[in-house]
Amino acid sequence: MHVVGIVALVLGSALLALLATMLARAAACHRAPAPGRLDASRLDAYAGAEGRLAALIRVPTVSRFDPAEEDDGAFTRLKAEALRLYPLAASRLLRSEPGDRAMLFEWPGRDASLEPVILTAHYDVVPPGDEGAWDRPPFSGEIADGYVHGRGAQDVKIMMAAALEAAERLLRSDFVPRRTVFLAFGGDEETGGVRGAASIAAVLRERGVRASFLLDEGGFVAEGMLGFADRPLALVGVAEKGYVDVAIVASGSAGHASMPPRHTAAGLVAKAVSLSEARPFPARITATLARFLGDLAPYAPFGYRLLFRNLIVTAPLVKAAFSAAPTTNALVRTTCAATMLSGSDKENVLPDRASAVLNVRVLPGDDVAGTMARLDAIAARAGARADFAHHGYAVEPLPESPVDHDGYRLLKAAIGEVFPEAGAVPFMFTAGTDTKHYVGLCEAIYRFEPILQSADDLKGVHGPNERVSVDNARRCCLFYETLLRSL
Ligand SMILES: [Zn+2]
Repeated sequence: MHVVGIVALVLGSALLALLATMLARAAACHRAPAPGRLDASRLDAYAGAEGRLAALIRVPTVSRFDPAEEDDGAFTRLKAEALRLYPLAASRLLRSEPGDRAMLFEWPGRDASLEPVILTAHYDVVPPGDEGAWDRPPFSGEIADGYVHGRGAQDVKIMMAAALEAAERLLRSDFVPRRTVFLAFGGDEETGGVRGAASIAAVLRERGVRASFLLDEGGFVAEGMLGFADRPLALVGVAEKGYVDVAIVASGSAGHASMPPRHTAAGLVAKAVSLSEARPFPARITATLARFLGDLAPYAPFGYRLLFRNLIVTAPLVKAAFSAAPTTNALVRTTCAATMLSGSDKENVLPDRASAVLNVRVLPGDDVAGTMARLDAIAARAGARADFAHHGYAVEPLPESPVDHDGYRLLKAAIGEVFPEAGAVPFMFTAGTDTKHYVGLCEAIYRFEPILQSADDLKGVHGPNERVSVDNARRCCLFYETLLRSL
């Protein structure tokens, strides 16, 4: 046989063997068992919970970046309202206010040798925006058409209400959790969490608390969002991207625009921004994404299982496919979004300084310093430079939390019980939460809001007509009860 023939034969057999291995790996991944259904009567115990959630919604605890524009009275009233609505939690749990925007309840467990668990949420909300775009007043807390309406219904007074509701019900039957539970509520998550979560975390740190895990907002049970999946998927956030605002700056000489230089400062900045879009950060499959895809496989058709279970071979395909849409692109790379531009303040005046802001979300595995260096190099090619915007505010990507952990198993079990129609998968949260303040206090941080959400529902988060169904509100309570019982 000719040498070329032998090589072709060897390569061909190797390729066939690889394909056979890939098919075998995909086939070895069985489809998940048929989805279940929650016995609706289990929610009866929480009839009325929606009314108490509505009462919290009616207190307009709107966070604003300028504290002078905030209604301090509303934040004080919300605390009083919570204590009034959940009297057993108020009277029987240990309670403190580590900061003016913080509420901390401690529920001592039966076994002091076990690490505690922290359940967090925030009770501030973003401004309602254009009130004319709302079908009902944003703070009506109206219960109509099977929904609780108003700002905070989804983001995220529901989690505070449900945690307290479950505690209230369990306290009524003199239940004592096995491990100590902290219910930690911040009142300024939307503006950074310094007065809320950070002060709670500081107090816990001072006391030497080391928690097993923490649960905060971030994921949810996604309905119909992954078109190929055969059921809703509970997305449990185990990782969170970092954050930095980068200023792209160029200098020029001010002067009359009738005799301009070849490039003005504004032109240089525009070129730098355009380069940053043309040269996206490299795509990478993080440990969390690999785990997400692997755990997704049982809910996906064979073709997807073939892709997801053979990443060693299929990674380039997956990266290319994910890069095609903004929602998935954000999962595989550090993203930069040009959001603000400024130059001179008059049509016919050359700017002596022009700038743009890139809002950058840093993928776990990258870091803020490396991100800045890359953007500075890109800006330099255009004759501009990159600098920290907003006084250097930056957050490194949060450590990826383990899925091989009791906390994750407990969450998964509670999801299985309360959302039996859904699968559960770990995922990376691409925005930010209060959890950054708790890093180092807990072995693991999970982000999961126990409600079903469709893409349509999500429009209410930070948008008009925020609402949550009564069924969802009650399920959220049942989830907390299930979790508390299982700790
Ligand atoms: Zn939130």
